[in-house]
Amino acid sequence: MNDTKGTTKERKIKFSYWHVLLLILALSVLRPLIGSFFGAAPADLSYSEFTTAVQGNRVRDVVISADRIEGTFRDDLAFRTVRVDDPSLLPLLKEYSVNVRGRLANPLLGWILPVLVMVGFSFMIMRRTRGGGIFSFSKSKARVSEGEQSGVTFQDIGGAGEAVTDLQEITEFLKNPEHFQRLGGKMPKGVLLVGPPGTGKTLLAKATAGEAGVPFFSLSGAEFVEMFVGVGASRVRDLFQQAKKKAPAIIFIDEIDAIGGRRGSAAGFSTNDEREQTLNQLLAEMDGFQPTTGLMMIAATNRPEVLDAALLRPGRFDRRVVVGLPDLTGRQEILQIHTKAITLAPDVVLENLAKITPGFSGADVANVINEAALLASRDGKDAVAASDFDAAIERVVAGSERRTRAMNPREKHVVAAHEAGHALAAVLLPNVDPVHKVSIIPRGNALGYTWQRPVEDRYLMGQEELQDRLVVLLGGRAAEKLVFAEVSTGAADDLARATDLARRMVTEYGMSEEIGPIRLAADTQTQYLGATGHLDASVSVTTAARVDDETARIVHDALDRALEMLGHNRISLDALTQLLCDQETVSGAEIAKIVKRPAESAPVRSKNKAAAIG
Ligand code: ATP
Repeated sequence: MNDTKGTTKERKIKFSYWHVLLLILALSVLRPLIGSFFGAAPADLSYSEFTTAVQGNRVRDVVISADRIEGTFRDDLAFRTVRVDDPSLLPLLKEYSVNVRGRLANPLLGWILPVLVMVGFSFMIMRRTRGGGIFSFSKSKARVSEGEQSGVTFQDIGGAGEAVTDLQEITEFLKNPEHFQRLGGKMPKGVLLVGPPGTGKTLLAKATAGEAGVPFFSLSGAEFVEMFVGVGASRVRDLFQQAKKKAPAIIFIDEIDAIGGRRGSAAGFSTNDEREQTLNQLLAEMDGFQPTTGLMMIAATNRPEVLDAALLRPGRFDRRVVVGLPDLTGRQEILQIHTKAITLAPDVVLENLAKITPGFSGADVANVINEAALLASRDGKDAVAASDFDAAIERVVAGSERRTRAMNPREKHVVAAHEAGHALAAVLLPNVDPVHKVSIIPRGNALGYTWQRPVEDRYLMGQEELQDRLVVLLGGRAAEKLVFAEVSTGAADDLARATDLARRMVTEYGMSEEIGPIRLAADTQTQYLGATGHLDASVSVTTAARVDDETARIVHDALDRALEMLGHNRISLDALTQLLCDQETVSGAEIAKIVKRPAESAPVRSKNKAAAIG
């Protein structure tokens, strides 16, 4: 990797401009000092001292300029003073036979120099925003790595088989363009990689360059946009200029949504003008290069839905490659790749690790491996064991343990009952992930947590599953109500998640009979980054009120079910709460021993459905 921020030659020129300017400024500031260095400095007099000297017949001659009077005493010493508007001065000088001369203002110092300085300064700002300058605002900050040296190949990417196949074609184009163009076909210009964060989009783009053996210019969308309008556009120009010189090459723009969002969506703001100019320049550059130049654009985004349609039309980013979360085999491949350099203990089975990490992105998996290795080293082990991976996964899912956060006995009891409520609800309901562990050792921001581990990768969720999930989310609040007959602030996060889920059931999944199968959520909901929770602007006030009512009803239903279910299993709830208070962490197997199913757990009905849970 090396930085490309202008050649040395350009730098020399830039610095000489600044040197000249600094020299002029320094000279004008130091002029009086320099003068005094070569001869005796004139005495500075006040105006009244000066007139007294004239009246004392001590002054021989004066030179009067626009703002000062300089002169010499009869004993040859020089003096100067400011000129004040005094009509009696000339008659006074005449009376004492002082030799008077006038001096026109020095045009060089009066106005030519300031004008020159200003022109020079604006020239520099113009250069700075267009093609150079000391701050190199307009230079693209692209990081370049020569393809051969990037060292990344498709072998380094796990679980992205289809994306790799799509990109392999691109490497073929770059390696052998004539072969594809011999029948008149045109090379694609741009590929858009879309998918959730951390799924290896950047890695894929790098590997494409690595496989094709071409230089890789990489820049993030946000790096184009600066405070000054026009800077982004010139950076785009510069990036393409640099890349063309090294073609065949790949230009990679990460987070292209930062500049490629729909135009005209927030007109009037200057940052938006800047973004639009940058986008227009990008579109113009993409139109400008011939497919034969061997340039290939790859862009990545987590928010394809916000991109301007012009970016996606043929001749621009017309190829879309979806890079999704890895499935079971994908995670296993990623585990294999990232554990190559790790010493693993014999009890580590990568397949098992892959099984317990559904929903993890490639970056999450890589992070877990690193955390596990660090934990094992901290404990002075020779190899990373399965227990280290367990602890690392827990850390990644729930944050680091914060044993220093001391709770008083009452708080500890409340947290224990709260977590026991979640855990018990999860154990009793059939449609939710099994409980792996429950703990009242604070982690991250949470005072306690219930860790449910999915048993398989899931792509669809049924309505009943979502309703059961809501009951588990509200199990903590229900347990507090049952045990203490009052509620605490501890359920705030649960309530937020439950409300969000219930709202999505109403506005996105059509799971409310009252509202029906209508989509009411705004389009700003992002496919890969989760919901924003906003309703579409076209939704009427009446419908919005009905959505609120339905959301509240679903959440209330879930809370009622949780109260009913935990009430029926009060003995288990109290036993689990006590066990948590005693040993702070309770495993799924231990909970199973406490819960007496099915004798104790009475059927719990959802008001939305007829199914009984036993
Ligand atoms: P973002 O959208 O947040 O920019 P991204 O999709 O570009 O994320 P990368 O930056 O490529 O993700 O991934 C981060 C790190 O995660 C990589 O450097 C790599 O270590 C690891 N990683 C992610 N996906 C994979 C994968 N499929 N195979 C191997 N490693 C992966």
